[in-house]
Amino acid sequence: MKCEPTNVPQLEEIDIPALKVKYRQERDRRVRQEGQKQYARPAEDVTHSYAADPHMPVVPRDPVNKEIDVVVLGGGWSGILAGVHLKKAGVSSFCNIDHAGDFGGVWYWNRYPGVQCDNDAYCYLPLLEEMGYMPSKKFEDGFNIRAYAQSIAKRFGLYDNALFHTTITAMRWDDAIKRWCISTDRGDTIRARFVVMANGLLNIPKLPAIPGINEFKGKMFHTARWDYEYTGGTQENPDLSKLANKRVAIIGTGATAIQAIPYLGKHAKQLYVLQRTPSSVDQRSNPPTDPEWAKSLEPGWQKARQDNFHRAAMEGMLKPGEADLICDFWTEITRNLMAELDAQGWPEFTMEEFMARREEMDFRVMERMRRRVDAVVEDKATAEALKPWYRFPCKRPLSNDDYFPTFNRPNVELVDVSATQGVECMTEKGFIANGVEYEIDCMIFASGYEVTSDLDRRWGFDVVEGRNGLSIYDYWGDGYKTLHGTMSHGFPNQFFVGMYQGGLNASIPELFNRQGHHIAYIISEVLKRGFAAVEPSKEAQDEWVKHIRETAFDVSELQRECTPSYLNNEGEKQVDKDGNEKYRWYLGESYGPGWTAFEQLVQDWRDKGDLAGMQLEKAPE
Ligand code: NDP
Repeated sequence: MKCEPTNVPQLEEIDIPALKVKYRQERDRRVRQEGQKQYARPAEDVTHSYAADPHMPVVPRDPVNKEIDVVVLGGGWSGILAGVHLKKAGVSSFCNIDHAGDFGGVWYWNRYPGVQCDNDAYCYLPLLEEMGYMPSKKFEDGFNIRAYAQSIAKRFGLYDNALFHTTITAMRWDDAIKRWCISTDRGDTIRARFVVMANGLLNIPKLPAIPGINEFKGKMFHTARWDYEYTGGTQENPDLSKLANKRVAIIGTGATAIQAIPYLGKHAKQLYVLQRTPSSVDQRSNPPTDPEWAKSLEPGWQKARQDNFHRAAMEGMLKPGEADLICDFWTEITRNLMAELDAQGWPEFTMEEFMARREEMDFRVMERMRRRVDAVVEDKATAEALKPWYRFPCKRPLSNDDYFPTFNRPNVELVDVSATQGVECMTEKGFIANGVEYEIDCMIFASGYEVTSDLDRRWGFDVVEGRNGLSIYDYWGDGYKTLHGTMSHGFPNQFFVGMYQGGLNASIPELFNRQGHHIAYIISEVLKRGFAAVEPSKEAQDEWVKHIRETAFDVSELQRECTPSYLNNEGEKQVDKDGNEKYRWYLGESYGPGWTAFEQLVQDWRDKGDLAGMQLEKAPE
């Protein structure tokens, strides 16, 4: 079935200059001068609401003292996919280490009620064709995703050496033995030739440093550590019956919160939703997978679908006549714009003109989102407070059919805390908002993760030392320095998976998949060629960093205009040595010419086979 454009207001129906003013006002009153400091440093979180694992008991074991070829730090998508590619490249002496009790990463930890993939699972789940697996629906349930991730780990034998419930506390390069010495909180000492930093993007939950947070005498937990003992129910059957006599508050209205809130509203005696910035929440058509459609797919379908998603959602442009296979809110702006250009016979335009057309469509789509709130939410003041006033990419776009109707329940109250830039304070009995004390039994933090904060906060441990004891946190203090986003000079045999200085794909697990492939290639080549250490030369790295910065796609205006989020480091500016203002964002410094160009570049680099730009070292005699 052809995917049609959506019914958005016409340009004449909206006043773009007035909307721009409104967007700016709404942003300005949310920017907090302290930026990331508004959140407690993970180590300083004395509530310990995410220290323990509520899902699996920690089983005592003896410390491990051993040598191995590769340690993969992490057992989420990036760690699993690094393991898969190491196995495929013939490297089998490796172990994944993870603080969780099993593979799965975010899908291990996040078991809150209603957790689902919020983008097209046919793109999001990696290796579908190779694994012969098909998601049960478009936005797959979290428990199925966890089971699928674990099935990949089983298929590729990743369980054999894995160490779970184990947190790396320090890693130091020992040049005398050309190995990384790794210590863990379980007393392990592991000497690995190579380390792969597959520690994920959403691995450290964060808490707002609300004054009085430690005074509260009731129950508190982070959504990434959902306590079903307390709430009743299970992830598979989130019947939160134990909340029937409980007054519950939830902080946050982001991607996580909007999935959990309908369940809390249904079961809690009273629910307070503490909102600082509203999300844009579209309807969610989530049909089960049509078996006939699945049967009709030709080999290579997943890559074709991911490419289509990438073009529509990230590059903002489909090819003339190309169908939108994804057909949801992620691709709406592009779909609508392409339809209009088609109808106009694809007029010639400059990049600036094209971006201006996109911006207009963005305003129209966001107006549709705001009208949706009015159509569903009965109380006018609540509806007004739930409307998003910012451009579409400023915050993660969301969809949920039950979120807005939850505010029509008599036991649910939206508490707008935007006037005080967040929850003012907590007390023994509850919280204070807009001068009123609310008594509650339980406070749930859907307050997100360390995504754009300083690297040591995001990685969660202090000691990562390369040659001569140089800390990576210091070396990268004024910006990432890598070759292809994969390795850094002075940090031999250390590999990075994630958004540093490489290509960017709209399907993040696919990005990890390709990075895993590239890393496994380098490691296997170094081992095959009998070298002990590899690292980029300073010259090759400098050249790549320069190239990345020269070709970078400039998003600074959007970052300046957006309400605080992971797009602009919560609105916290940095000023570089030349006095330029910059905002860090969650996507790192991505390669401007795009994903396909980057993939081609590293493919050509591998095809040449000379590991150009790398310094190789033999083992000491
Ligand atoms: P977010 O960081 O997106 O949201 C945190 C929420 O907490 C925001 O609403 C934020 O408000 C609010 N908040 C923070 N501090 C305060 C405060 N002091 N007072 C009041 N409110 C506060 O975290 P999520 O866990 O929702 O999502 C994180 C990421 O996880 C998503 O962006 C997405 O990438 C991923 N995710 C993916 C899913 C998937 O299916 N693939 C599903 C769920 C999550 P404000 O906006 O004003 O800062």
